[in-house]
Amino acid sequence: MDLYGLTIHEAHALLRKREISAVELTAAVFERIEEVEEKVSAYLTLARDRAMAQAAAADELIGRGACAPLTGIPLAIKDILCTEGMRTTCGSKILENFIPPYNSTVVKKLRTANAIIVGKTNLDEFGMGSSTEHSAFMLTHNPWDLTRTPGGSSGGSAAAVAADECLGAIGSDTGGSIRQPASHCGVVGLKPTYGRVSRFGLVAFASSLDQVGPLTKDVTDCALLMQEICGHDAMDSTSVPRPAPDYTRALGSGLDGLVAGIPKEYHVEGLDEEVSQALNDAIKVIEGLGATCREVSLPHTGYAVATYYLVAPAEASSNLARYDGVRYGLRDATSADLMDMYRDTRSKGFGPEVQRRIIIGTYALSAGYYEAYYGKASQVRTLIMEDFKQAFQACDVLLAPVAPTPAFKLGEKLDDPLSMYLSDIFTLPPSLAGIPGLSVPCGFSREGLPVGLQILGKHFDEETLMRVGYNFEQATDHHQRKPKL
Ligand code: GLN
Repeated sequence: MDLYGLTIHEAHALLRKREISAVELTAAVFERIEEVEEKVSAYLTLARDRAMAQAAAADELIGRGACAPLTGIPLAIKDILCTEGMRTTCGSKILENFIPPYNSTVVKKLRTANAIIVGKTNLDEFGMGSSTEHSAFMLTHNPWDLTRTPGGSSGGSAAAVAADECLGAIGSDTGGSIRQPASHCGVVGLKPTYGRVSRFGLVAFASSLDQVGPLTKDVTDCALLMQEICGHDAMDSTSVPRPAPDYTRALGSGLDGLVAGIPKEYHVEGLDEEVSQALNDAIKVIEGLGATCREVSLPHTGYAVATYYLVAPAEASSNLARYDGVRYGLRDATSADLMDMYRDTRSKGFGPEVQRRIIIGTYALSAGYYEAYYGKASQVRTLIMEDFKQAFQACDVLLAPVAPTPAFKLGEKLDDPLSMYLSDIFTLPPSLAGIPGLSVPCGFSREGLPVGLQILGKHFDEETLMRVGYNFEQATDHHQRKPKL
């Protein structure tokens, strides 16, 4: 088998036995990138020399008998996480030449674990979008059908994993940006509980929603990456001081006695027939593994899109105020005075979707409107949280679709922001509630496009999500299919 096609745990087993070296593995990944990147365009920045040096250092460690689970494993990082000395653009012109002087906590942890950083992946500008088309630099293509989007905003990370251009990747999820591209690209994606993974060095979009998480080829790899990146961080006041369980050990136990809820509000109009079919088949498999499935109600689901598209732009408008051309990033040099410089820098530096959100957010937060919009949205957000709390009194997990349709065509929704927003309907409520969500491949459409199953759980119960995902994966073979490139 080609080395680039390995999962993290398979590669680890070979590295540990010294049947392969980290240098060989990393070189194979770069060869694969050379072969397919022209079609996929997953990466904004590649760091070959650095990565090869990191691989040589990893081999030295392995030679001394120190082969931890991520030692010598080539990973990709969404270009919204700061990497010391390596360009971090957030998919935006305003940060086109920004080279952070520090590492985000997640990247630091991965480097401490001696993982290899292959490069930085494409995304919707600042994470705002569901197709990666809002990147200021390029389009990323879905490896399963190059005329379609990979989903977004972590579309570059999902496409890189699906196309075997890395062994695993890191993404961020504010309202679905890990789960939805994972679903559209046929890989596994986990949005952890808000507070589980440090946001330090993750460039802020909507601070009360943003979370960092893994995108991988299977659930075992998801557990391995999660183990390494989670945990309390003094640098992030919202990270929760709570010890992490042994995620890999938790995978093994079966599903006997598990109760899974099926939210009836998720059977919405517009839910694609094939997505619905794949979901129903998945539910049957999970029942067959010993779980009991029952219908539950999340009555405030219908308000989630409106609530999210107030809360997220409001927080974004405040977070993005820092890009003023003064301290770092782009500065328009033609302006006559300070006010012009602010305006011209931000007009040239931000793309249309980001500007739209800044305008919506600024409006919603302005004096006189605050209570009617942000205040009201925060109240509805509490109701959505209560819905989940109620449902989890009777269930261990919830099973839901990730997105209403498989991956859509490039350009299809680009001129229709509302229809793009509506496609987030199943991923937004869990984000507003801060609960964890796992997307695992659960089937294919007739056209051969992957479909994901979303497994939702209680706060900090990633363990149970991964256990359900792992058992499902053992009983099916969707995750083993690869796109033909
Ligand atoms: N698609 C959603 C948005 O556009 C979510 C993006 C995300 O999770 N970063 O805001």
